[in-house]
Amino acid sequence: MASEERTQVGIVGAGPAGLVLGRLLELAGIDTVILEARSRDYVEHRIRAGVLEHDTAELLAEAGVGERMRAEGLVHDGIELRFGGAGHRIDFPKLTGGRHVVLYGQTELVKDLIAARLDTGAPLRFEATDVALHDIEGEPWIAYVHEGAERILRCDAIAGCDGFHGVSRPAVPGLKVWEREYPFGWLGILADVPPSTDELIYAHSERGFALHSMRSLQLSRLYVQCDPTDDIANWSDARIWEELHQRLALDGWSLQEGPILDKGITPMRSFVAEPMRHGRLLLAGDAAHIVPPTGAKGLNLAVADVRLLAEALIARFTGGGEALLDAYSDSALQRVWRAEHFSWWMTSMLHRFPERDAFGERLQLSQLDYTCRSEAASTSLAENYVGLATDWWSRA
Ligand SMILES: Cc1cc2nc3c(=O)[nH]c(=O)nc-3n(C[C@H](O)[C@H](O)[C@H](O)COP(=O)(O)OP(=O)(O)OC[C@H]3O[C@@H](n4cnc5c(N)ncnc54)[C@H](O)[C@@H]3O)c2cc1C
Repeated sequence: MASEERTQVGIVGAGPAGLVLGRLLELAGIDTVILEARSRDYVEHRIRAGVLEHDTAELLAEAGVGERMRAEGLVHDGIELRFGGAGHRIDFPKLTGGRHVVLYGQTELVKDLIAARLDTGAPLRFEATDVALHDIEGEPWIAYVHEGAERILRCDAIAGCDGFHGVSRPAVPGLKVWEREYPFGWLGILADVPPSTDELIYAHSERGFALHSMRSLQLSRLYVQCDPTDDIANWSDARIWEELHQRLALDGWSLQEGPILDKGITPMRSFVAEPMRHGRLLLAGDAAHIVPPTGAKGLNLAVADVRLLAEALIARFTGGGEALLDAYSDSALQRVWRAEHFSWWMTSMLHRFPERDAFGERLQLSQLDYTCRSEAASTSLAENYVGLATDWWSRA
């Protein structure tokens, strides 16, 4: 017989969405159990995003998990768009009334959130397998296996925070899905070398897109556009550095090389599933939507979803009724679609499409030039990149 327990919110997935939601609900005195398929070590070392929007960083600090981010994260006041042999800076605080982004690896953020949860003793079960959701329109429960035993978790609501390949989204009947695949991917490396730049460089080049990012003052993160079906074995370290040198080339600037600690190829996709609520199951983060990484939005959208979801669940459990829960999907999707558009726009403007299209490339260069020289266009990029403020959304 499976052992049974009860909680208010069962959270599936301990990525940024599940962990931030767990933290916000815990601070409000609401009981949660987080079930995570992978081990703690795996989750803490999965290298992914690293750019936190202004409000994401603020939320983490307000939730009491921002101490190391404040000490070790890098505040960035702009990015460089590099094209046509020149670099052009977009100044975030000047264009957005003082807002910026913080560079802090997703791995570090996840470590901080896990440590904070384990500190308080709130339940977080790693290596929970065979997770299955039941009766999501009535009295939901989750079946799973943990430490060799079958278990049942009964809850008032389930938060599906289990990423793109999880079990939550497939549990919803009749979802409407929008999807776009891109004919390129990103080959990303983590290199043990101080960044060759103070701010991120997004480079448009004849050989394809390149991005110079960083995880700390000692660790560089760099990407080149590649064929999404390519095998990483075809990319020696020397070939990767050569490609980066060529795509990022600028007179008077040089790229520092160092040992490559990690490398991998990620395909690029835009994806939205609607609605984000079905009965007592609420989807958040990559479980409901994916963006190509060019606008650095994936992690930030996951956090924005659970900020809304936490408010709605807190209202529901403290006598505030279901109105916010009823509005959750529509409210979250408004921000999701804005980020989908921004990510698609940045991707389309900066990448080289495989069927060489000279007309399309001239349009890209014209758009880049306009974006850098028009204050209105620069402001549009800047406010989307740092993230539209919470009060901007409440004006909708
Ligand atoms: C290789 C890669 C690079 C990326 N780079 C960037 C970037 O540069 N910038 C950016 O903004 N975004 C980037 N992203 C996207 C960003 O990392 C995601 O948007 C973010 O992780 C979403 O958080 P999440 O919590 O919704 O999902 P996830 O981080 O995917 O977390 C979901 C969790 O659920 C767990 N899970 C899955 N199935 C189950 C199950 N059945 N039962 C229990 N647990 C389950 C998973 O193990 C995982 O821990 C990248 C993504 C990838 C894959």
